[in-house]
This record gives sequence, structure tokens and C-alpha cells, in this order.
Amino acid sequence: IYMTSVKMLERGYAVIVMTDITAVKNSEKTRSEFFANASHELKTPLTAIKGFNDIISLSTTDEKTKELSAKIAKETDRIVLLINDMLNLSNLEAERSPIKERVDLFKVCEDVKESLSSLAEQKKVTVEVSGSGVIEAEKEHAVELVKNLAENAVRYNEAGGHVWVNVGKIGGKTVLTVKDDGIGIEDKDKERIFERFYRVDKSRSREMGGTGLGLAIVKHICAVYNADLKLESKIGEGTTVTISFPE
Ligand code: ADP
Repeated sequence: IYMTSVKMLERGYAVIVMTDITAVKNSEKTRSEFFANASHELKTPLTAIKGFNDIISLSTTDEKTKELSAKIAKETDRIVLLINDMLNLSNLEAERSPIKERVDLFKVCEDVKESLSSLAEQKKVTVEVSGSGVIEAEKEHAVELVKNLAENAVRYNEAGGHVWVNVGKIGGKTVLTVKDDGIGIEDKDKERIFERFYRVDKSRSREMGGTGLGLAIVKHICAVYNADLKLESKIGEGTTVTISFPE
């Protein structure tokens, strides 16, 4: 695999530089395969641990043991979420072209709202979905996109807060907007939050069940569909994420 660049000089001369990037591409592939395999291999023993832990919890009457078992269950669930996000991310990195279908984005938003209802209730945040729109995409990708954004909007919010999810059309482009009146993000963190495992407040993210990979996944999905991703935020006022899909 070669990367080629051409530079025109004066009097009709030109310089062509060809760089052999086979090794770079191969190591990227190895890394991505390792990531995918490791995540996959971790799932099997984890499922077993969860199972044994359930047995312990069901077969004991000792309160202390039950309490510890509940803690183990909570932590293993977190690892499962983390592994799933790592797998999602490595699949997105594998650069295969998506198998597109017509996806009703409004319907996806409604389904996500439904799946977030218990978290929203617990946080006392209301979620509103409006608009209409269709995109050509892999259904799973659309769900991941909306889920990660809406979940953040609920998570990084205060009691009594709101989340508005809208699907619309601007200049022929289908646009997804996820807006909240939550805690907001400081300017210095705005560029960094799309990096893997970057969190503004690690303990808050963990406590809320975040993996630190949500926005990295969002960014990757947008890249796959050439969608434009914008984030506006003001500390204490809220955050708006806008994604425009090309026509
Ligand atoms: P996490 O699993 O920690 O939520 P994400 O990649 O989804 O990871 O987000 C990275 C960080 O960006 C979060 O930990 C949080 O600090 C910040 N963040 C994301 N969305 C919002 C939002 N809507 N309002 C305020 N902060 C946000």
C-alpha cells in the first residue's frame, strides 16, 4: 500500500513522493483486530461470573453476602457495557462500508426515549421527541447515535431538567438535534470530550453508568456517513448537539 503525493515545480518539472505505508496499515489492522478479539474473549468468563454470582445471591440468606453479591452484579454489568462499547467502536474502526437501509429517524428517537424512560424518571428529567425524517443508514448505527446523545443529555442534567430531541430538514439535509438545559460543558473540554475515555468529571460519569466511549462512538458514526457534527454548550445553561446528514 502506497501513499502518493505530487508537487508541481517550475518549468514543467514535478516531484512525486511515494511512501510505503503497508506497515502502518497492517499495524492498524492488527491493533483493531486485537481490540475486537480481546473484547469478545472477555465476554465469556464475564457471563460465567455473572451466573455464579446470581447463584450465590439466590442461595444465601446472609445479608452481608447478598449485599456484596449485589455490588458484584453492578460492577459486572458495568464491564459488560464497557465491552459492548469497545466492540462497537472497533467495529466502526474496521472501515467496512455500512449496509444501508431507509431508517425512520423519528421512530428511532421515540424508541430511544422509551428505553431511557427509567433513567429519566430516576433523574427527574423530561424527554421530548418531535419532528420527522428519514436517513439511509444501518439501523444499529442510528440507534447508537441517538442513544448516546440522549443518554448524555439526561445524565448530565439536574432534577427538573429537559431534553429536546428533534428530527427535521434544513436545506434538503436531515438534521438531528439533541438539546438539553443541563450542566453544560466548559470551552476547554469541548474539543476533548470526543476522545475515548475523556470525561469532564470521572466520578460523575462512572456513578451515572457512563463508559467514557459514548461520544467517541458518535464521532465515528458521523464520519462513516459523512455527517456534520456540531456541539454548542454553555456552562450552567445546557448543551446542543446537531448532526446533519448529507442528502
Ligand atoms: P460518558 O460515558 O462519560 O458519558 P461520553 O463520551 O458520552 O462518555 O461523554 C464524555 C464526557 O462529556 C462526559 O463524561 C461528560 O463529562 C461530557 N458530556 C457529554 N455530554 C454532555 C452533556 N449533554 N452535557 C454536559 N456534559 C456532557
